[in-house]
Amino acid sequence: MHIKNTKVVCTLGPASNSVTEITKLVQAGMNVARLNFSHGDYKSHEELITNIHTVEKNTGKRIGILQDLQGPKIRLGDLPPEGIPVKKGDTFILTGKKVNFAIKTKILQIPIQFKLFTKGLKKNNPILINDGMIETQVLQVIDKENVKCLVKCGGLLKNHAGVHLPAITESIETITAKDKKDLVFGLKNNVDYVALSFVKSANDIKNLRKLITKHKKSTKIIAKIELKCAVDDLEAITKAVDGIMVARGDLGIDIPAEQVPIVQKRIIALANKYAKPVITATEVLLSMVTNPRATRAEISDAANAVYDRTDAIMLSNESAVGKFPSQAAATLSRVASTVEKELRKYSELENNFFIHSREVANPHCSNASDLASETKADYLVVYTSDGYTARELARHRPNTPIITICEKEETARELTLVWGLNNIFAQTLKKENKIEQIVQILKKEKIVKAKQKIVILANASKKEKIISNITI
Ligand code: PGA
Ligand code: MN
Repeated sequence: MHIKNTKVVCTLGPASNSVTEITKLVQAGMNVARLNFSHGDYKSHEELITNIHTVEKNTGKRIGILQDLQGPKIRLGDLPPEGIPVKKGDTFILTGKKVNFAIKTKILQIPIQFKLFTKGLKKNNPILINDGMIETQVLQVIDKENVKCLVKCGGLLKNHAGVHLPAITESIETITAKDKKDLVFGLKNNVDYVALSFVKSANDIKNLRKLITKHKKSTKIIAKIELKCAVDDLEAITKAVDGIMVARGDLGIDIPAEQVPIVQKRIIALANKYAKPVITATEVLLSMVTNPRATRAEISDAANAVYDRTDAIMLSNESAVGKFPSQAAATLSRVASTVEKELRKYSELENNFFIHSREVANPHCSNASDLASETKADYLVVYTSDGYTARELARHRPNTPIITICEKEETARELTLVWGLNNIFAQTLKKENKIEQIVQILKKEKIVKAKQKIVILANASKKEKIISNITI
């Protein structure tokens, strides 16, 4: 009955926006769809959401929807389509104004889309362009709109390439005017998660939460960890947020790339400690943007994320603009189910992750998990009001498959991102005789067969909590 416990998040885009393609992604193991608000307009996002709902109806499978807000991502302005090559030792002026490349100027001028980029910028500060591929240094801050830069490591300056200004990152507002507008759109369309880019501290999460509450919603928040200051404030952010993303792309620019794998392990362990779903993201199967097969190193990276016990792994360009979206999702699913099977087989593969996570464990959830394992139960069945008991149980990463019954459809949708919660049913139970009602649902849904053993855990946070060990 184990398919895979690790969830697959796919970014939808031009390569995967049709009902046919989304259906293929679901069949290949997609659990959550990511709408990337760095691209597309409201019309295209609306169409995507409609298509997702159509696929849900056709397949009978829930697809969680994650809205990813762009945040203060700074980009170059309009450049010639072929780009502009620069080499070590070259100088150019980064300007807040538009540039007409048809007119020749004495010194090369490169437009940047962020008007306030000179505020706080000083001589010798680094400016990184194109995901850190091109490295420049400030020679002179000429005025409010112009900075002279020296190229330290050259490359091709591309139209709208990302620009990273580490010296002033902390002074830039996390939630931009565009984010606020996009958020209203997302809330109106009932997205299940809102991901906040370039989170700096737990305070950013509180601010976003206030905006969501103002719109009378309780949509869950994912913090994207892509800055050093967020890494420095990891525990507070993890406590404040509902889920977390290891955003390895931008993170690998703000901290040395070789530190990212360890930060990834820390984020996953901390997220697990506080029972918050965690997504490992970016460049997971990058070569599959153009090739039908992933490299050994990519497979190994995905396998290691599963070994770290991430809740979910995310595809970005692979599924949004790549040539092989569903093949990429299927590859992730295969890696997940294979690694999970081996992990259940060999006890020497258990890591110290479990010891760490027990510190703040809800004792009823750890008892239920242990009981299921000791009695070799066929299923763990969890009843939850708002998702707490299910998340707390799942964070023990039990070997026993989990069946979840939750009160609200809204909760069922949120739990699509959580490790191991594959069979989720939304149904409110009456207070009395909960066990009988649960057994009725299991019989109706035909998951559990006669004579199979189950452990039931209900409402671990409440007084009327139940742990029961029965045979159907
Ligand atoms: P992005 O975030 O794809 O929105 O940039 C993920 C990352 O930076 O890794
Ligand atoms: Mn990013």
